[in-house]
Parts: sequence; C-alpha cells; structure tokens
Amino acid sequence: MRSMSNAKRYTPRWCIVPAEDGSARVIAKTEMAVVVDGTNIVYVGALADAPHVDVHIDLPMHVLMPGLVNAHVHSAMVLLRGIADDAPLDSWLTQAIWPREAAHVNPAFVYDGTLLAAHEMLCGGITCAGEAYFYLESAATAFSKAGMRAMLAAPVIDFPTRYAANTDEYLQKALAAHDALREVPRMRVSLGPHAPYTVSDESFAKIRMYADELGLPVQMHLQETAREVTDSKAQYGVTPTQRLAALGLLTPALTVAHGVHLSSADIALLAQAGASVVHCPTSNMKLASGIAPMAEICAAGINVALGTDGAASNNRLDMWQEMRHAGLLAKVATGNAAALPAAQILHMATLGGARALGWDDEIGSLAAGKAADMIAVRIDSPDQLPMYDVLSHLVYVCDRSHVTDVWVAGAHVVADQKSLTLNADLLRQSALAWQGILQ
Ligand SMILES: [Zn+2]
Repeated sequence: MRSMSNAKRYTPRWCIVPAEDGSARVIAKTEMAVVVDGTNIVYVGALADAPHVDVHIDLPMHVLMPGLVNAHVHSAMVLLRGIADDAPLDSWLTQAIWPREAAHVNPAFVYDGTLLAAHEMLCGGITCAGEAYFYLESAATAFSKAGMRAMLAAPVIDFPTRYAANTDEYLQKALAAHDALREVPRMRVSLGPHAPYTVSDESFAKIRMYADELGLPVQMHLQETAREVTDSKAQYGVTPTQRLAALGLLTPALTVAHGVHLSSADIALLAQAGASVVHCPTSNMKLASGIAPMAEICAAGINVALGTDGAASNNRLDMWQEMRHAGLLAKVATGNAAALPAAQILHMATLGGARALGWDDEIGSLAAGKAADMIAVRIDSPDQLPMYDVLSHLVYVCDRSHVTDVWVAGAHVVADQKSLTLNADLLRQSALAWQGILQ
C-alpha cells in the first residue's frame, strides 16, 4: 500500500451513503470516517477501522455528503436572470430569450456567465453541472477556473445562431470541443440536440451516428410542454418519445430533461431503453409547463436526476430548492404525502444525477475509488433544531446557506461559505456590466 502521509481523514456527525440494498435511496450513518488521498476517496467506513493518517478534519455538527449534481443547466443564462418573468415557454423563448441570445451570446458572454453561475452553484454545494449551452470551450475554461466539474452538451439545433450556421457546423464544433477538452481534468463532452421540435430526423440520424461512434452521452429537452406533444402528433403522427424510439435514439446513453408531458406509453419506452430523466420542478412551475409525472416515472424504474434549468427560468441555480420543490410537487400531484420520500430525493440530487450524466463510475456517492467531490452541511443552527430525521432535514429544512465547505476532486474550493477560487467582487462588477448591455 502506498504512503498515506498526505491523506486526510474527515469525521462528520453524519455521513450520507447509498442504501445498501441498491435501491434509489440514500441512508445516513454515524461513527463514520471518509479518507481522501489526493483527488480520490480511499476509505468510507467505520471510524474504528479507518486507516491511520496524519491530517484529521473533524466535522462534529456537519453532514458530509456527495456534492450535488445539477443535471440540467444552461449556466451562462444566469446573465438573463429574471429578465422576462411571467411569460409562458413559447413566447418566453421566442420573444425574450432567443432575440437577446442572437444579439449578445459570444465567448465572453459564456465565460463571464458561466463563472458567475459556477460561483453560485459551488457555494450552494453543487460540484457538477450537466451543462448545455453554446461555446462550450469558454464554459469549460470558466468551470476549470472555478474548480468545478461539468458534462458539457454540445448544442445541435436546426437553425442558425451566432455559434453555427447549420447542423453540420454544430456537429463539427461538437467534435472539435470533444477533441479540445479530452485531456482537461473534470470536463467531459456529450451531444446536446436541443429538442425534437427543433431537430429534424436527418439531423438526429447524424447525432446518433456520432454518439455511437464516439461513445458519447446524448442530452436533450423532451416533452416539456403540452404543445410540443400536440405538434409532434400533427407533424409526425407520434409523440416525440415515440419518434426518438423509431430513430434509434432511446438508449442508456440518453438523458432527457423535463418529461413533463410523458404518457404512460412514453414512460414505458424510456424505462425499457434505460434512459434517464432530469426533473426540473422549479422551471416547470415558473413557465407553467406543468407537473412531471415523477411518481409514475420512478415506479417504472427510470433513473431520475434533478436540475435547475437555466437561471432565466428559475431564477436561482439552487439544488436545495429543487429538492424541496420535487418533494412538495410529487405529494400534491398524487394526493399522497408518502410520494417521493427524502431519501429518494437526495439520491436524485447525487447518484441519480451522476448516472444520468454517465459519470457514476467517478462521482455521485461517497465510496472508495471515487473522486472526492464532497460537501459539508452544518446542521446545528437554532433554526434547524430540533432534528429527528437528518434526511428529512436535508430536503425540507436545510438550504444553501448551511453549506459551509465544498471539495471537488479533493480540492477545497469553498471554505466557511466563501469561494477559494473566485473573487466575488469581480463577479459582481462583471454581472452589472452585462446587465447594462442586456437590459
Ligand atoms: Zn433547459
């Protein structure tokens, strides 16, 4: 065994780990130790059996848990936070968002916006983003500077933008980004066709070919609104999910965001394929898209992740809000207070997210051999007490202000609620400068 002289031993009050029966739930354990050597976790288990190391980090009133995975976000859109509230998805996109993007989105917008978003996410305990936006090399540079991890979905959409003129150019840029980011730590690239209503069958065939050839995950929006389903039936005679099935795109590598208007037949197709669904409850409520049938999706055995979507339709990048909203919505939608228990929601926000991104070999849980992406959540302030069930507290009591420390691949990136990698004053200046340009 190699020397553990630089290893660190973390001893929290509670440690959150996956349920031992393999179900999509987490459990809380006490008297545990987590040992990290360099970038990776080397031991998770009983404190009494932990290997001896010199550096001890005691967290006596904290929960230590895996970093939260925000499985669906358009980070740079944080610069459009709150710019067009109280509008439904169709007019929100076509009148408020797309014209501004057409006029202003360039590498500087993406870099500055992503840096601002990364600060918000890291300080709130999000260590990995399932990112989907333009100029992904600029986003990757920002995520790298912040010390965060990201799966960057390269956009493909059948209309021209400043980023690319046509489908082939989008695909060329995706392949170029895949090559450019291959050796960059903590960055991975996937393919991100925008949605079935903006991508043709011909383009989907090309996407499928590249995904198969390069072994890339595919992430896209699916059945976010009722109109998307009605239009698809009128144009193609089938639902978008059925159309994707016919095109051979329903595979374990596919992750779909929203799935608000999935039918039982659509859910069965996704389950059969082993695809994942990212639930974005706040964005779905705010754009009045509807309530995703999460109880049915979970019962079908589909892997479920949570996402904030972009800050333009949320208006935060806060996974604590998503967890709380996911729980409340599932209960009110089913009339069943037992729907979606906290243990399951916490799984969605961690290992479910890692699985959806195809990254669960490396992240999503505290386990020996995985990267040390961890957060410490303080749980002893008077507004949090008393506490009878720590999992329930994490979903329904805690918020981003209780996240004190964040580590990504073993590196301490947030300490005492302050970023160690980014300068908040510079971010403030940059955000206000963009506000002047965009308003
Ligand atoms: Zn989205």
